[in-house]
Amino acid sequence: MKRFFTDNTLNITSTNVIILVAVFFITFYNFAFFSNVLEVYPLNKKNIGFLSSLAFGCTGLFVLLLSLVCYKHTIKPVITLVFILSSLASYFMDSYNTPINDDMINNIVHTDFAESLDLFSFELVLYVVFLGLFPSYHLYKTNIIFKTGWQELISKIKLIVLTLLSILGMIYIFSDYYSSFFREHKPLRYYTNPSYYIYSSGQYAGSLFASSQLPLKKIGLDAKVPFSESHRELLIFVVGETARADRFSLNGYVKETNPQLKKENIVNFTNFWSCGTSTATSVPCMFSKFTASEYNKEKIHSTENVLDVLNHAGVNVLWLDNNSDSKGVAERVQYQSYKSPDINTICDPECRDVGMLVNIQTYINEHPQGDIMIVLHQMGNHGPAYYKRYPAAFEKFKPACKTNQLEDCSKEELDNAYDNAILYTDFFLSKVIALLKQNSSGFESAMFYVSDHGESLGENGLYLHGLPNIIAPDTQRHVPAIFWIDDNYDEIDVEQLKNKQNTQFSHDNVFHTILGFMEVESSVYDKSLDILHNSSD
Ligand SMILES: [Zn+2]
Repeated sequence: MKRFFTDNTLNITSTNVIILVAVFFITFYNFAFFSNVLEVYPLNKKNIGFLSSLAFGCTGLFVLLLSLVCYKHTIKPVITLVFILSSLASYFMDSYNTPINDDMINNIVHTDFAESLDLFSFELVLYVVFLGLFPSYHLYKTNIIFKTGWQELISKIKLIVLTLLSILGMIYIFSDYYSSFFREHKPLRYYTNPSYYIYSSGQYAGSLFASSQLPLKKIGLDAKVPFSESHRELLIFVVGETARADRFSLNGYVKETNPQLKKENIVNFTNFWSCGTSTATSVPCMFSKFTASEYNKEKIHSTENVLDVLNHAGVNVLWLDNNSDSKGVAERVQYQSYKSPDINTICDPECRDVGMLVNIQTYINEHPQGDIMIVLHQMGNHGPAYYKRYPAAFEKFKPACKTNQLEDCSKEELDNAYDNAILYTDFFLSKVIALLKQNSSGFESAMFYVSDHGESLGENGLYLHGLPNIIAPDTQRHVPAIFWIDDNYDEIDVEQLKNKQNTQFSHDNVFHTILGFMEVESSVYDKSLDILHNSSD
């Protein structure tokens, strides 16, 4: 056996290995990139030259990248690592047509094991075997020949210079195309594999380092709640997950997805927009004083949020989480995860959002003094395994897609699974309202529900979420937002608030609306952004 392999071992120079690997990458790992490119530049006589140059240029770029990191002792481990990671990236981009940006890397880092299992499939195994393990094995078996000392350096410099000149030459020849490619079709680059996820990892690591260097900026230290013997405030703020506004029948969706909420006297904001298109962006953003246009990851993570301001005002703050975590928002308040059956008593085996409600009454009873703000971070419509997000009794819309291979399901099946999960959220929210009604005698209470972002469900071949705001379709940013306010809250006229139902609002309004409801007085409060108290109408 050993002899067989020894005789068949390929002897090949390092330069040729780099070129071969680059060609292999462009051919097999960039299906999503080229299919997106072909939508903008269809394959015809006019575009063929540019398209070939693009394929050649991408190969060249990868040759340059590899030349810089591949040396005698690094070439095999580096390329093996890139094979494995790129096979995963390829699977993800080919399946969901969604690029791996720094937001996505952040999500991957913060995703727990159960969520990763949601993405597991037979196709994923095939990608890892054929694009990850198979080429790695052959690379391992190859005898890579390095020249000695200066000769190796000279041949590397030759390779780099020649590649660079060819790339520049092609950009010059097709300069019209490349200027449109770089300026008008910037998002196409997001699909290049592996260059874009390598770039994104760098971005992510950089911002992580930058925010770890920044000291925490305190805000709203002057916050106070005017003392009142007559009433206390109780707000339950529900952070929804991946819910689209257009899938709520309250917003005109043809399927009845809100049978419970429609029975309640709620204020339904029909024109509400998310800060970002991912949990990692939107959740910290909605609790921060910064608006979406001021969004900056380092700034947001190094500045206190609305929960801290409530803390300064002496409000009892509690965060219950049935999602991955609070994305750093609840770091300085009381926090409890409900992802495990040890804590969450309603798991089948998936731990349900309603499980978060079980101990709330006890918490309220144990805090006889001061106002109370409770955040519930839902699992909601977390994809792609929407069918796992609701108990069997909620499978009202059938047949429902029962796989994470969304492209294998018909559009109807996919919609059904997604809509059943919305139906379950409708039920969950009605339970939150019921809990608040129970506390009517002791509190002026309210529920404020808003989703973190929306979702693509196959429109234009796109699935999931996480596209940069600039190119994200409305379905990823138009979110449901609902207020329920107890009748005994005198300061707000619910019927009058309904006049604002179609006014455009966004996550920018969350910070100030929470402070407004809790009657917090502070210099950080901006009444014009408080949905309940501003006078936009
Ligand atoms: Zn999310």
